[in-house]
Amino acid sequence: MLISTLSPAEITRYARHLTLEGWGRETQERVKSSRALIVGAGGLGSTAALHLMAAGVGALRLVDNSRINLADLGQQVLFREQDLGKAKAAAAEQRLKDLNSFTLVESMVKVLSPHNVSRLTSDCQVIVDATNNSPAGLILNQAAAKLHLPLVSAWVWNMDGCLTTYWPGHGPCLTCSYQETYNSGPPALLSPLPGILGALQALEALRILGGLGAALLGRLLHFHGSSFHFTEKPLKPNSRCPTCQAHSRIGQLSEKPPGIRKTCKPPMRG
Ligand SMILES: [Zn+2]
Repeated sequence: MLISTLSPAEITRYARHLTLEGWGRETQERVKSSRALIVGAGGLGSTAALHLMAAGVGALRLVDNSRINLADLGQQVLFREQDLGKAKAAAAEQRLKDLNSFTLVESMVKVLSPHNVSRLTSDCQVIVDATNNSPAGLILNQAAAKLHLPLVSAWVWNMDGCLTTYWPGHGPCLTCSYQETYNSGPPALLSPLPGILGALQALEALRILGGLGAALLGRLLHFHGSSFHFTEKPLKPNSRCPTCQAHSRIGQLSEKPPGIRKTCKPPMRG
């Protein structure tokens, strides 16, 4: 059980949140009592982790089995040359602990699998899929459907990036919209893209944990880095989706997901 009460030092540290209209101390304490799971500690996950830690999420669980190589340093700005060869999750944990000693970090150097996903997700309130559209997303989607958790997903390629939140029971899941969202684009990538999308994942996770505004459900946000604009397209639940059917989610969509209790001013779309 995470402690939610803010210490005097935390009140100073998060002063800009506490004075933010629609956020305030109650919301900050809700975020402090939350745990987020991030799967993937590359460019997306390490950026999302940095922002969630800086923002005061109570606990962060970071799962990744890969090691840092030279090519990673072009996009994964959390890591340094001295980290080459180290496990990403472990190196990230050390950097994140240096950033904010008021929050807990658990790094797990392991491969996400159907066998360990329940244990990794069971005490989390939000899941961030930072595996860049890998098959691990489907494993996370199954767990999200089973536990009724929001799954914040992003992926990047070239100068583009996409973001959406899957929340079975409140919107489409990953399996519902797999054909529309699956991307098998080239591995080419301009350096800032994972940082941009990773920061957006952190923002979306914070909005969900804090209950601020409507989650990005049924909406695929696409950032076009080459022309510097966003577009959006709707994602719909699939009545034949095996994941939703397995967890009896079709036909039970609610208009207002749990935890979404207030809206930014001016009102946000969605
Ligand atoms: Zn589905």
